[in-house]
Amino acid sequence: MTERFDVVCVGAGILGLATAMTLAQRYQIRIAVIEAERQTGLHQTGRNSGVIHSGLYYKPGSLKARNCYVGRRQLLELCDQHGIEYEVCGKLVIATDKSELPRLEELEQRGRANGLEGLKRVVPEEIPQYEPHATGVEALWVPETGIINYSSVLDLYAKQFAEHGGLLRLAARLRSVSSDGDRLQLETAQGTIETKHLINCAGLQSDRVARMAGAKPKIRIVPFRGDYFDLKESKRNLLRGLIYPVPDPRFPFLGVHLTRRLDGSIEAGPNAVLALRREGYEAPRFSARDAASALLYPGLWRLGSRFWKIGMGEYLRAGSERRFAAALQKFVPEITENDLAPGGCGIRAQALNAKGDLLDDFVIEHSDRALHVLNAPSPGATASLAIADQLAERASKHFALTPLATSHP
Ligand SMILES: Cc1cc2nc3c(=O)[nH]c(=O)nc-3n(C[C@H](O)[C@H](O)[C@H](O)COP(=O)(O)OP(=O)(O)OC[C@H]3O[C@@H](n4cnc5c(N)ncnc54)[C@H](O)[C@@H]3O)c2cc1C
Repeated sequence: MTERFDVVCVGAGILGLATAMTLAQRYQIRIAVIEAERQTGLHQTGRNSGVIHSGLYYKPGSLKARNCYVGRRQLLELCDQHGIEYEVCGKLVIATDKSELPRLEELEQRGRANGLEGLKRVVPEEIPQYEPHATGVEALWVPETGIINYSSVLDLYAKQFAEHGGLLRLAARLRSVSSDGDRLQLETAQGTIETKHLINCAGLQSDRVARMAGAKPKIRIVPFRGDYFDLKESKRNLLRGLIYPVPDPRFPFLGVHLTRRLDGSIEAGPNAVLALRREGYEAPRFSARDAASALLYPGLWRLGSRFWKIGMGEYLRAGSERRFAAALQKFVPEITENDLAPGGCGIRAQALNAKGDLLDDFVIEHSDRALHVLNAPSPGATASLAIADQLAERASKHFALTPLATSHP
């Protein structure tokens, strides 16, 4: 028998589950999440840097700036309520060349405009007070940055979703969508599901899911792999918290950084190289369909014609301890290639438009009976509860949902 729902969220990553949990808590609906994999969080959510971003980088007034600021507070409050471990350890953004100082200044101004507290400029002599083994021409201390394991957060969202009557269906990849009057028929790997509305949080597949649901997104998801190296256990004393470079403002990526994890391990990365398979974490790292989707898209050629040199540099650095160590030595000179061992990798679902611009801000669009999250890069995990609030608000308006008597205002 076909199951019927009011809303189905596609994707059990942090955004799909945060949104489904929020809707289940607030509205009188039958709601399900369908997930392609046998487990939740196997893609971006389970493969990220585990950083609670403060909101430093983002253009004031942008969705990233607002949702990171609000979402970070919501996240910490929820973690406190439910005993989820995290640590607000702060981070140091280090300029290693005088040419980076205007950008460091700009970051500080953005941070203040975005409501960050406790930002402090650090002169070279003071850097060792924050990070004893680091060096640079100047730095910015960002005390509100933290670390967390987003898989624990995801488990909490899934638990709360279930407690509010939501259904999570694993191994149920969405294969096609057809419209049947006022309902959508979803063909999944586990049979047909009927729903009045759909929310697309499919990350690396979100453009394809949008097209299945009849939308015509003006972007293409281009996957950018980020490789990590692990710092040897005997060298963990080289880092107290987190060290970031001053990012290149032309790209939405933050540059190779050093991150302490909650378990005490230290990761270096991630770099950013074009991936030829959207979910190609291990071999084979090539899929004809995914490679064609990226390489036949005019936007990629336009991007490549502007940034091929930087792209080549990232390729050469991928898999090379020596080149990775050279990038890290700029701010921690004691790190050598022998201190690094290959670690994991993640793949970013980055939206690119036909003009060749990498979209920087979060993008949410709607089509008939559906909402689509089409760009949710970092700090999407930090901002998950704020993004879920926005999606819930838009769903309530577009789908005319009925609030529960006891729900939030
Ligand atoms: C390398 C890296 C480092 C990052 N570091 C940070 C960080 O430190 N801090 C931070 O805040 N953010 C960080 N981010 C960003 C953050 O991880 C993402 O913004 C967030 O995880 C996006 O969540 P999501 O639910 O949209 O996507 P995902 O977690 O990718 O979830 C999408 C889900 O959809 C499912 N799916 C896809 N297609 C279908 C289908 N057809 N049917 C059913 N299910 C489907 C997938 O299996 C997957 O489970 C990082 C991201 C990466 C890649």
